[in-house]
Amino acid sequence: MTILGHQRILELLPRLNAQTLLFTGPEGVGRRAVAQWFARGLNCSQGFPPCGHCEACRQTPPADYREIAPDLETKGGKRARAPQIRLEQIAPREGEEGENLLDWISTYPRYRVKVATIDGAHLLNESAANALLKVLEEPPAYTRLILIAPGRETVLPTLVSRSLEVAFAPLPEALLRTLSPDPEVLGFAEGSVGKARWALEHPAEFAQLTGRAEGVLEALRTGPAPTLEALRLLLELEGGLSYLSRRLRQAWDPESPRYRQALQSLAEAQDALEGYVSEDLVQTLLALRLTRLSP
Ligand SMILES: [Zn+2]
Repeated sequence: MTILGHQRILELLPRLNAQTLLFTGPEGVGRRAVAQWFARGLNCSQGFPPCGHCEACRQTPPADYREIAPDLETKGGKRARAPQIRLEQIAPREGEEGENLLDWISTYPRYRVKVATIDGAHLLNESAANALLKVLEEPPAYTRLILIAPGRETVLPTLVSRSLEVAFAPLPEALLRTLSPDPEVLGFAEGSVGKARWALEHPAEFAQLTGRAEGVLEALRTGPAPTLEALRLLLELEGGLSYLSRRLRQAWDPESPRYRQALQSLAEAQDALEGYVSEDLVQTLLALRLTRLSP
């Protein structure tokens, strides 16, 4: 597995002895890929960098490796508005079946080290965070834990204080250009290899996202009703709101009060949606606000 960029982190990781690491940085920059690379190196018969052909290296997912992430769908199969990591993912809970972190790390590794990645440490709910804290206080010697979050300020201070932060920077555009020279893709990716790959691997969805965001920008010039229609279409798509904020920054002056107020309105809309306010209400209010701000 080749990792794009992050050379200094790859050199540093094998020398760190901390049992719990906190990987911070923007979404899609490669934190999970580096966590898997680290797990492979810890169990590779040749050590670092992982050789890629020994018995441990040949396994996919990596040997003695687990990832815990929030449920992105509700039990009814809809996209979760406020995804979270639940207690039963961390510790066994009466009446709940299924794999959890505590049970998994209670047995010895098959090779040398068990690595568990909590992908979304900022999305642990309170009881899950407390259960994880107990694990971090006394992890078995053969375990390494990797917490992934956008920034240290998004994670509970008690978890941060027990981990060593490794900060990932956005990738330089020159590196991403090795994946694609398309300025639309590069603008969308903003230094994230995950986003660039998503756009390249899902050209139809990417075209739909850019097309619908463009639709909102055009509708803004005609009034709140067409804007509401266009917003509805855009918000059906994953990441629609955050992509719109990026397009607005390109279309409007990012230093202008207008842009800052639009950004504020978008953030409030996001919060309201996560807080289960009626979608209709949020979209209508957003359409009104954005058309009022539009030049
Ligand atoms: Zn190997």
